[in-house]
Amino acid sequence: MSSSSDPTVRQTPPVAATGDATDTILATQQLTKKFGGLTAVDTVDFTVEEGEIRCLIGPNGAGKSTLLELITGQLRPTNGEIYFDGQDLTDLEPHERIDTGISVKFQSPHVYENLSVEQNLQIPLQRTDRDVDSVMATTLEQIALTDKAKMRAGDLSHGQQQRLEIGMALTLDPTLMLLDEPVAGMSVEETSEVAELIESLHADGMAFVVVEHDMEFVREISDQVTVLNQGQIFRQGSIEEIESDEDVRRIYLGENA
Ligand code: ADP
Ligand code: MG
Repeated sequence: MSSSSDPTVRQTPPVAATGDATDTILATQQLTKKFGGLTAVDTVDFTVEEGEIRCLIGPNGAGKSTLLELITGQLRPTNGEIYFDGQDLTDLEPHERIDTGISVKFQSPHVYENLSVEQNLQIPLQRTDRDVDSVMATTLEQIALTDKAKMRAGDLSHGQQQRLEIGMALTLDPTLMLLDEPVAGMSVEETSEVAELIESLHADGMAFVVVEHDMEFVREISDQVTVLNQGQIFRQGSIEEIESDEDVRRIYLGENA
């Protein structure tokens, strides 16, 4: 008699079960979010390996932002679980999830326009016991805004504001960074600056989940790509596999054609 389909006996996180070379840092199990009659995220088993850059793509309304907001705790799932670093996050508050090592830059901008660049970075830093001066200096350098430290955030360019927001997430010293459309509306040059920033943080071991429509950007940074469609994982693979997949072209690339 198999008990594997009985949800009441599923006690051990899937991450602890494997002993292979790669370690899963994030795993959702049967994760589901319904908004009334609409199932925005539908029984999703989504896993991310330690230190990888995963890109999440899919048509508008596929459920990408909802999936990220379930992972950060902004939204509560209708069903399913979320494990991070072997810990069950499902019932934790957003700030408790941050403390486990997850940082996020949401789709809509969240910088404080009337504060300086430096003051914006100080806000998330207040909740840590990290050394403010040294983290500030390092972060400003990473996001290439050292010479703009005293500038009002509202006076920065769009690209600089996006980098500042990534910087705010960085001050929390995450092991996993979630970025929702980090290069939307950016110039080619601004986009490649963000790609470089992600690559250099990745080289230091940080894992990423990046939601993005810009396929050139996805090609540049991704290890693996997950395609979401109508709330479900539709495909997963290398960018080459995804781009040559006829069904993906139909549901996703066709939309932009
Ligand atoms: P994506 O980020 O892939 O474009 P979303 O996750 O934003 O998609 O949305 C997925 C679906 O859920 C869409 O149909 C959207 O309209 C719906 N949705 C998202 N947030 C809410 C909400 N707070 N209330 C009701 N419906 C929502
Ligand atoms: Mg979205």
